[in-house]
Amino acid sequence: EPQLNAVAAILSPESGLFDSHGYMLALEGEIEAAGGSVVTSAPFEGAEPLQGGGFTVRVGGEGAMSITSRLLVTAAGLSAQVVASSIEGYPADLIPAGHFGKGVYFRLSGPAPFNRLIYPPPIPGALGTHYRKDLGGQGVFGPDLAYVDVEDYSVDPAKAEQFAGYIRRFWPDVQVERLSPDYAGIRPKLHGKGQAQPDFQLRGIESHGIEGLMALFGIESPGLTSSMAIGEAVADRLAG
Ligand SMILES: Cc1cc2nc3c(=O)[nH]c(=O)nc-3n(C[C@H](O)[C@H](O)[C@H](O)COP(=O)(O)OP(=O)(O)OC[C@H]3O[C@@H](n4cnc5c(N)ncnc54)[C@H](O)[C@@H]3O)c2cc1C
Repeated sequence: EPQLNAVAAILSPESGLFDSHGYMLALEGEIEAAGGSVVTSAPFEGAEPLQGGGFTVRVGGEGAMSITSRLLVTAAGLSAQVVASSIEGYPADLIPAGHFGKGVYFRLSGPAPFNRLIYPPPIPGALGTHYRKDLGGQGVFGPDLAYVDVEDYSVDPAKAEQFAGYIRRFWPDVQVERLSPDYAGIRPKLHGKGQAQPDFQLRGIESHGIEGLMALFGIESPGLTSSMAIGEAVADRLAG
């Protein structure tokens, strides 16, 4: 990577990108092939544990209904706290506080400067703005970190200067005119500004006392990379 300005670097030859949408389609295909189904536009509105095990789950939306299930796993991202509080008997004092950690991306026009992912040292509370060449071959920088109170996915074009200043440390040739706003995401953080980042929380019966329930909190980055491991941990805990 001749354009990289660094005193030293660690090469991770197995790091890379993958197609997250293709991955989810593949998982959906496997679920359906195993006799399951994936139902969208069916909001979870609450659940009541049943005597002797299992749950009544209230599903809203068009054709609202109640269903029963033996097990219940909640993985609601930014809504994890709201979802847990709608489960009857979930101890309110065990629901961790949630924070919205917004991150925006800027896209680079013209040739991509690096072929590999470039991760500068982390910033407090997050991995820091890094570089990737996306699946279409274009350079993308992000995400930064800003704590916000509402879900707002806009990208302020004025942040381009701030991004360029940060990027210049590892790529001195960056030109601010080549950066344009791309997209934003919001991380479901369990820690506020200045606090240490805790691990993911996978909460089972030993925590909340409800049999058959796993409640997930704070599944921010690298939650996608870890998704198979998280799924296996959840399945093992429920089987145990
Ligand atoms: C800016 C940014 C960059 C990231 N970069 C990376 C990365 O490089 N690598 C990586 O591994 N991870 C990354 N992540 C993290 C990754 O996206 C998450 O860890 C992952 O999406 C978590 O998956 P999840 O299914 O737990 O939650 P989510 O993907 O948040 O999905 C939760 C779902 O629950 C739904 N939901 C909420 N409430 C209800 C309800 N009441 N009823 C029904 N459905 C409901 C929501 O609509 C949503 O679809 C990044 C995240 C952000 C924000």
